[in-house]
Amino acid sequence: MPTIQVALDVPVARLFDYDAPQATEQDVGCRVLVPFGTRLKTGILWAIATEPGCDPAQLRPIQALWRDVPALSATDLALLKFCSAYYHYPLGTTVLHALPPGLRRTKGWTPPRRTGASVLAQDSDNPPLPLALNTEQLQALRGILQVTDRFRCHLLHGITGSGKTAVYLALIQALLAQGKSVLVLVPEINLTPQLEQHFQQHLPQTTLLSLHSGLGEKERVTRWLAAQEGSARVILGTRLAVFCPMPQLGLIVVDEEHETSYKQQEGLRYSARDVAIMRAQQGQIPIVLGSATPSLETWLNAQRGRYHQHSLTQRAIAGATLPRMRLIDTRRTALQQSLSTPLLEALQTQLSQGAQSLVFINRRGYAPLLRCQQCGWSCPCTHCSTRMVVHLRTNQMRCHHCGRSRPIPVHCPDCGSVQLDTLGDGTQKVEDQLRWHFPHARILRLDSDTLSSPTQWREARAAIQQRTVDILVGTQMLAKGHDFPHLTLVAALGGDQALYSTDFRAAERLFSQLMQVAGRAGRSHLAGEVLIQTEFPEHPLFDFLMRQDYDGFAQYELNQRRLSGFPPYMHQAILRAHSKRPERLETFMAQAHAKALALAPKPPLTLFDPVNALLHRRAGDYRMQLLLQSPRRQNLQEFLGLWEKTLTASTLRSVHWVLDVDPVEL
Ligand code: ADP
Ligand code: ZN
Ligand code: ZN
Repeated sequence: MPTIQVALDVPVARLFDYDAPQATEQDVGCRVLVPFGTRLKTGILWAIATEPGCDPAQLRPIQALWRDVPALSATDLALLKFCSAYYHYPLGTTVLHALPPGLRRTKGWTPPRRTGASVLAQDSDNPPLPLALNTEQLQALRGILQVTDRFRCHLLHGITGSGKTAVYLALIQALLAQGKSVLVLVPEINLTPQLEQHFQQHLPQTTLLSLHSGLGEKERVTRWLAAQEGSARVILGTRLAVFCPMPQLGLIVVDEEHETSYKQQEGLRYSARDVAIMRAQQGQIPIVLGSATPSLETWLNAQRGRYHQHSLTQRAIAGATLPRMRLIDTRRTALQQSLSTPLLEALQTQLSQGAQSLVFINRRGYAPLLRCQQCGWSCPCTHCSTRMVVHLRTNQMRCHHCGRSRPIPVHCPDCGSVQLDTLGDGTQKVEDQLRWHFPHARILRLDSDTLSSPTQWREARAAIQQRTVDILVGTQMLAKGHDFPHLTLVAALGGDQALYSTDFRAAERLFSQLMQVAGRAGRSHLAGEVLIQTEFPEHPLFDFLMRQDYDGFAQYELNQRRLSGFPPYMHQAILRAHSKRPERLETFMAQAHAKALALAPKPPLTLFDPVNALLHRRAGDYRMQLLLQSPRRQNLQEFLGLWEKTLTASTLRSVHWVLDVDPVEL
């Protein structure tokens, strides 16, 4: 009697046996519907067992075996298995969460009547002329194409505007010509439309589809299946696309590889960049990581020769140069609220020349703080250990961690005083100040409050392209990858808090953010200028930034990390746990710590004490964490494997925990 092993979305690190007389080896990787307790669950047929793991009389029969969509291949399953093992996350949950939600339902898949053809008009008669690549681009292209039948990890380190996209496109064309498919990952959903359009125009004969969480459930499955069946040859997607089955996959591109949005921050805490590298390794294909400011992890790998490095050192458009950089010391310059005189003058000059400017401040809302002048009350969130942010436009105090909101109070609830002040700046406040200074300027604010839908983004992009906007005010949403050819001045405010942050990655992030946002200026024939306001002009970071010297900064920062024993010289994992019941949480963490000690960790492995998370309470949950690290990855992984087993055995009800391997935030 054939017994099958099924991967199910339950927080238990094992497979479940069922009776399935109709199943054959061909069905491995198919979806099955099985009874689980009193409910029905969808799972993946993981294996046909030679003998059942329990008494055959107790085996329950499956309810359905779906052959409605192709089974996941052995390659797909191998990647998921690897992820589950590497991130120490239950196999079934890993597998089910890799599937689009439409295939996780407890019913079979009914294809929609209209199949999801590409939404873009394809002008196949008039494809644009391919760009003639410059010498550096050609060198990179040839270097990468040298070996395509084996695993190789390439770093395409190209300054902003150096034409990395043109290299990706040429690579895609070459691989398509070899009969292969290509997966391109981008950090953010808003980057997909312009890239999709650009690629589609240059690849008129190719079915290219984007894949991201903004798609409807049916559409997402349809596109996933198109990739799995091999009809879509280029998939352009956000991190979730890294699991998309592609039978002829011949190349993976990870654009802006340094972006932290590649790391999923809940559930299976995977890094799509790292999973992509594992996938390329398993599939023995090349992978290209592109960035102007590579993560230090990637940079070190390139320095050590593990990754092949290709550099683009010039802007691609003839005549386009890197912008001039200027630092404004806010301690020595007159400030009108948050804007310095030189900054206001520069904006005025831009306006009188009809040129476009961008003011960057990485904080949305009006002000991060509302404070009572009398007693110091500052509007804490009732469910998080944080303060609520002032959102003047909607007359709300809003918590950026749990989303709760309340009207802006007119007087202090503690002492009754009406003297309430806003402290610090957000995009809304800066927008107001700019409107006050430049009443005739056309100002557009771009942050996740104004850009919640793809339509809003499309309209904003069109307005920027058509130059119906003079000044853009926005958060880091604007810093990534966008090409705004008319933009000639970039001003950055208030990145300073990163310089005294407890997060050792804060400087790296600030540097890359400022390099990226500076990189938006002067991308075309018009020369660009970048102004950066800071209170700490003597911080070494600015020295490198002024020279736009990524290599120098990376060297400096790596040296700091090595001296203080931080990643990438150290590999880390964090046990994160949360619960509504703080006493249970503490018990669990104390037990987890004791269990780790009982496993007798020996150097080079370091085990830290459990501590409260930086944000101790979020949305009503108390949060604690425990850090482990080792300079040797293998050492850390082995320990995690043992520890995970004992943790699973002792899970307390009402305490949720997860291991975060290679965490990117503390
Ligand atoms: P990056 O992604 O490296 O910041 P892009 O790929 O967006 O840069 O390219 C910047 C600009 O340079 C784009 O407008 C692109 O069309 C142009 N470009 C790229 N390669 C060339 C080339 N070989 N010749 C002329 N223009 C180019
Ligand atoms: Zn008060
Ligand atoms: Zn909150």
